[in-house]
Amino acid sequence: SKKPVRVAVTGAAGQIGYALLFRIASGEMLGKDQPVILQLLEIPDEKAQKALKGVMMELEDCAFPLLAGMEAHSDPKSAFRDTDYALLVGARPRGPGMERKDLLSANAQIFTAQGRALNEAASRNVKVLVVGNPANTNAYIAMKSAPDLPAKNFTAMLRLDHNRALSQIAAKTGKPVSSIEKLCVWGNHSPTMYADYRFATIDGQSVKDMINDEDWNRNVFLPTVGKRGAAIIEARGLSSAASAANAAIDHMRDWALGTNGKWVTMGIPSQGWYGIPQEVMFGFPVTCANGEYTVVEGLPIDEFSQQCLNKTLAELEEERQGVAHLI
Ligand code: NDP
Repeated sequence: SKKPVRVAVTGAAGQIGYALLFRIASGEMLGKDQPVILQLLEIPDEKAQKALKGVMMELEDCAFPLLAGMEAHSDPKSAFRDTDYALLVGARPRGPGMERKDLLSANAQIFTAQGRALNEAASRNVKVLVVGNPANTNAYIAMKSAPDLPAKNFTAMLRLDHNRALSQIAAKTGKPVSSIEKLCVWGNHSPTMYADYRFATIDGQSVKDMINDEDWNRNVFLPTVGKRGAAIIEARGLSSAASAANAAIDHMRDWALGTNGKWVTMGIPSQGWYGIPQEVMFGFPVTCANGEYTVVEGLPIDEFSQQCLNKTLAELEEERQGVAHLI
């Protein structure tokens, strides 16, 4: 049988953590033959550590055959020791009266510390996914704080936007989600992201031709996907957690195990693709194989799409400037 791999999860006692850990331990992320050791990080706060213990008791009670070990930590360096995968979920939520720059700087502190800890302690091949918001900028900060690790190993979660877009298109066309290929979401995980179905196909047919309604694209589809998080908070009284955890599983599974040529969306540090400046953590269409992602290059960008890319890039550059002095 396979040697266990180490999976670190931060914010492990939070809502997303609760929807995530049981699925990792049951093999849904890395495969039904891959044992895992969970290295769980929570803030030192007594209540958070106690809640984490409770989650670990439940994990024990599942008696998952693939769960080879489990640790609770309050220090990132010990949590990230030799870790092969790191899911950075915990982040500082926006409190009452908190301004955007306060939020950025509170998170900059968390993600510089975690980047440094990964740099010192993690496996040299660690795959990092940032879920905690602002996810792209937090991932950028962690990457910049870990100069000894390959930059390409730091990623941000755009997969929830991608999955939301898939479902909207399935509903609009009446076709199953599984039949949709070549969809992507460009840019920041925020309402400025650009969900793009211009290249998408269903059974080889163009989705754009099937829908044939540019007004729906601009005035229904894009705002629906962009504001879906807020709509869920409004309906549930809590932010989305199970769907965010599900997207994190999808992202890591596809990165580790491959997509068989299918396109998915990942937030990754740009190497200049599509005119996006180097190192900007940006959602791109990718395929994955052998533990590596490859950007789908050479797609035509029309005028409207270029405007959308410019807008989401401008927001990311502004966030990057906002934290530049903190890194
Ligand atoms: P959640 O588990 O619901 O959310 C965690 C983070 O994921 C938030 O930043 C949230 O952003 C983000 N997120 C990304 N995508 C989504 C999405 N689609 N829907 C909802 N959230 C999304 O938060 P909880 O408050 O329940 O739990 C957070 C835990 O993290 C707490 O237990 C806290 O103690 C811990 N924490 C740990 C840290 C650490 O390990 N060092 C540091 C800071 C906190 P948004 O706020 O925009 O919803």
